[in-house]
Amino acid sequence: MTSNENLFERAQAAIPGGVNSPVRAFRSVGGTPLFLVKASGAYVTDSAGREYVDLVASWGPAILGHAHPRVVKVVQDAAARGLSFGASTPAETELAELIAERVAPVEKVRLVSTGTEATMTAIRLARGFTGRELLVKFAGHYHGHSDGLLAAAGSGLATLALPGSAGVTAATAGQTLVLPYNDLDAVRAAFAEHGDNIAAVITEAAAANMGVVAPDPGFNAALADIVHAHGALLIMDEVLTGFRVSSAGYWGLENAYSQSYAPDLFTFGKVIGGGLPVAALGGRAEVMDHLAPLGPVYQAGTLSGNPVAVAAGLETLRLADESVYATLDASALLISEAVSAALSAEGVAHHVQRAGNLFSFVFGEHLAGGARNYDQVLSQEAYRYPAFFQSMLAAGVSLPPSVFEAWFVTAAHDDRAITRILDALPEAAKAAAAA
Ligand code: PMP
Repeated sequence: MTSNENLFERAQAAIPGGVNSPVRAFRSVGGTPLFLVKASGAYVTDSAGREYVDLVASWGPAILGHAHPRVVKVVQDAAARGLSFGASTPAETELAELIAERVAPVEKVRLVSTGTEATMTAIRLARGFTGRELLVKFAGHYHGHSDGLLAAAGSGLATLALPGSAGVTAATAGQTLVLPYNDLDAVRAAFAEHGDNIAAVITEAAAANMGVVAPDPGFNAALADIVHAHGALLIMDEVLTGFRVSSAGYWGLENAYSQSYAPDLFTFGKVIGGGLPVAALGGRAEVMDHLAPLGPVYQAGTLSGNPVAVAAGLETLRLADESVYATLDASALLISEAVSAALSAEGVAHHVQRAGNLFSFVFGEHLAGGARNYDQVLSQEAYRYPAFFQSMLAAGVSLPPSVFEAWFVTAAHDDRAITRILDALPEAAKAAAAA
């Protein structure tokens, strides 16, 4: 047995499924999960000492590459000054200011520790602000694992083919309306029927937890119009896209193309913690000021605004200048086009799904024009991905262990790393064709 196999066996005895987050278990791709001991730049190293080019990037945070020396240095310095104070710090205000500077509709920010907390709080806040109960979400969108958000939720639920979660009461599930993505008529119909009682619509700025499914051009702006016409709030979930696809997230990308719209609340995570647990919700001051201690909507956290984590996030955002985003965009394009060419050369029908520098692939002739919603994504020839994944892994490239996840590049993916990916593609495409 390899050391990964040994470790997995031991982990399974001590941890449910051997993992602390379901997709890590490699259920849909088979084989033994990697047990990582080191990550540096574009590479991760497993317990057997094997090095892989990484296209997971900790599921998004590592835009600069793993363990960027300047981020590690500020973390060390912050740690030496104290690991946690449970009190206000100057740096957390700097982080809030920086987020608000870059994302114009954000006036105030509350820091939390995970994306799940950010969306959970945003929903409570929307309900507290509007005095309404219902929440609208889109099928295939993942917003973390709080009760009301697990219906048709993508990510690990898509990977494990779960419609929702046991343990969520019917009463809670009944307060979430799930609509097909990219379907404005469905949104209009939901508001026509329940308009007075819909507190908020939550949407991934660009869906990236069922694989990547970008919003149709103008979808987010039209959604904002409908939501606002009915006195509800729009919660733009940028936990994954925020500060990854541009310095102002997906909202920034769309705004640059003059599709101007202003969500009431945003949620962020991943990149804003630079690999440590920081997430946030932010938005209009009028809404945000409903949070305690100013307002009646309660939210709190022992480790919220943790000084070590905030230091990592601040340094990551400061280092992520326009040249970093240009590098991410160029690498994403190069890699995705190379994958597509290799698949085409083997006759594997597919489509490259893109949202900024995020991408993934759907397989199947009927999806050659792309997938726009969860039903289409689920209808793909998903069985081709495990073979592709395992072939890449054997060649030293670590891909997301599910066809329903985005691929993530980092600014540290240099020629050597990219060459290893490109060299591995012909074999992997053959494996996908033979599956
Ligand atoms: N929202 C989105 C869009 C996400 O992608 C994720 C995590 N992948 C979350 C929320 C939940 O974040 P966390 O895992 O930090 O709780």
